[in-house]
Amino acid sequence: MLSMHTSPLAALGGRETGGMNVYVREVATLLAAGGGGTSGLKVDVFTRRSDASLPEVAEIAPGARLVQIEAGPAAHVEKEDLPALVHAFAAGVEAFAAAEGVTYDLIHSHYWLSAEAGDALAGRWDVPHAAMFHTLGDVKLRARASEREPEVRLEAERRLVRRLDRVVAATEHERRLLRQIYGVSPSKVSVIPLGVDLDQFSPADRAEARRRVGLPEDERVILAVGRIEPLKGLDILIQSLSAMSDLDRVGLYIIGGDERAQPELHRLATIARACGVEDHVHLLGARGHEELPDYYRAADVVAMPSFYESFGLVAVEAMSSGVPVVASRVGGLASTVVDGRTGYLIAWRCPEPFAEKFDLLFANDELRRALGASARLRMEESYAWTRVAASVAALYDELVAAHARPADATAV
Ligand code: UDP
Repeated sequence: MLSMHTSPLAALGGRETGGMNVYVREVATLLAAGGGGTSGLKVDVFTRRSDASLPEVAEIAPGARLVQIEAGPAAHVEKEDLPALVHAFAAGVEAFAAAEGVTYDLIHSHYWLSAEAGDALAGRWDVPHAAMFHTLGDVKLRARASEREPEVRLEAERRLVRRLDRVVAATEHERRLLRQIYGVSPSKVSVIPLGVDLDQFSPADRAEARRRVGLPEDERVILAVGRIEPLKGLDILIQSLSAMSDLDRVGLYIIGGDERAQPELHRLATIARACGVEDHVHLLGARGHEELPDYYRAADVVAMPSFYESFGLVAVEAMSSGVPVVASRVGGLASTVVDGRTGYLIAWRCPEPFAEKFDLLFANDELRRALGASARLRMEESYAWTRVAASVAALYDELVAAHARPADATAV
């Protein structure tokens, strides 16, 4: 697996660390363990070294290694400067494989930078190449006009989607977008959702969870979790508070954001003041993934007001914890959240419908609990990571077999 711009073991909630990191960590671990009925693969995940103190090779889990590749400075590099390092990254992966005497059967890339590196390696090694983009530049631009994406990314994604053996999309919606915007045949796209650890993100007593994370017992708690960036629509969420009919004892807790998210956090605090709701808005900063189950359990409702989500892991984590989700009807959220059954899906960009649903849920404990219970059931039925890993393993088998076929035919 290639995960050039961010490591699966990096702290989450930073500007560039979120769902993709969790995906690579969970899937690599389960594939190596033979989870979900797979036979147990050897997985090497390559990432660009951004920290000189880390060992070259570390274990993610038995059978799954994380390899740091020198490409550019061993420090944080801004995303816009990474395309220039793709070539060095691919060369570093190739050199590592040669030095170790490892040959790989398949490359699975994550995000366009890795797909660019994977494209070069797949040609050199003559192996199949599958990629997940996690986000796509043209899709982001459509979701929020103020987004800016470098031309080099847009060009690379339009080219790479045609060269890959398979694009892995998180939802049918993404498969449709790949056809509509990029002209990719649906047969070249496999839809495999992301998942959730059902044991870790499980329902538990709300009052106890609040004590553990230090949230007040008598508040009505709205929680939002994610990378702090404009696409997450947190400005809409803050504005929605001022549209609520009853703001008494309501607290909005926002988790996410490292030091590089300070300008955006500052913008959100300014909006809260402008709306007169600053006393109700708590910007907590990033929290470790292991702390999040208690935050979800402590919440009455989890909000995802995003302008776009290719999947939206936070929604499935919240629902798995037995908490209803009020989300924009965009991207993956439209398939994970079932309107009126596991929460509510509402028009994006509009604060008022969010306010209306918060009022409704806070006035109806019974309804809130029922939605939370059926959310948990739905996650149990369809979104375990073990299912995801089994689908990924089946896809690998298919691609490796298809790749071997033409060569066999020539031999005969
Ligand atoms: N996350 C975390 N700590 C934080 C913020 C986020 O552990 O402070 C995790 C969150 O639990 C989820 C992931 O980061 O697993 C975010 O994934 P999602 O798909 O919702 O958003 P993305 O980052 O992919 O846009």
